[in-house]
Amino acid sequence: MSRTLTDIGAEAAGCTRCRLAEGRTQVVFGVGNPDADVLFIGEAPGFHEDKQGEPFVGAAGQLLTKVLGDVLGLDRGDVYICNVLKCRPPGNRDPQEDEIESCTPWLVEQISSIQPRVIVTLGNFATKFVLQTQQGITRMRGRAYPWHGRTVIPTFHPAAILRGGGEKSRQFGELREDFELVRDTLAAMDPAPGSAPAPAWSPAPAPSPAPVQAPEPPPVRVPDADVAPVPEEQLELF
Ligand code: SF4
Repeated sequence: MSRTLTDIGAEAAGCTRCRLAEGRTQVVFGVGNPDADVLFIGEAPGFHEDKQGEPFVGAAGQLLTKVLGDVLGLDRGDVYICNVLKCRPPGNRDPQEDEIESCTPWLVEQISSIQPRVIVTLGNFATKFVLQTQQGITRMRGRAYPWHGRTVIPTFHPAAILRGGGEKSRQFGELREDFELVRDTLAAMDPAPGSAPAPAWSPAPAPSPAPVQAPEPPPVRVPDADVAPVPEEQLELF
């Protein structure tokens, strides 16, 4: 019998596969519905996540929760939320290659267990990792990508939105548009796909995926006088 998500999380709680085990308070495995249709993947736990043992807490988590409710009509318990890395890198530095390699099996097991229909990658790092692309989030967002029998929809990391002006920023509107794409993608899918699992995934290098749908031309927006766009380099930080 295959292991449940709880079993996998219990095993991960004692993981010492990489150096991040030394500085963490606890493993931040993930939270939410083990049978969720939508899986959100971020980069790595931050200070508060490390302390509380839950991904996306604090202001960035609140923003995620708000858009989730406003656009999808869901709360955190309806979806599953995790990160590529399960332990906090010291000082929130970038994850290193060997840490990613060590931690990836946990994410693979999570995806295999949850069998989400849509995966939302939050930010630059998770998007590049999952889709194996060098393209930044500002180019990748706004589209849906076929991925091992599922659909991946990249969007900005909520922390990047907060640092760049929050709900007044143009990018917050784009974040909402991406969530609308998630909603519409789910609505267009057949009812529950049954028990046949989607093909397994491993993060081997692959050519950049083609989007499912041709992107609409970006809407012409007239920015509010007091609303400045978030600088692109800021959004690429996460
Ligand atoms: S980051 Fe991942 S691989 Fe490294 S110790 Fe934590 S759970 Fe294990």
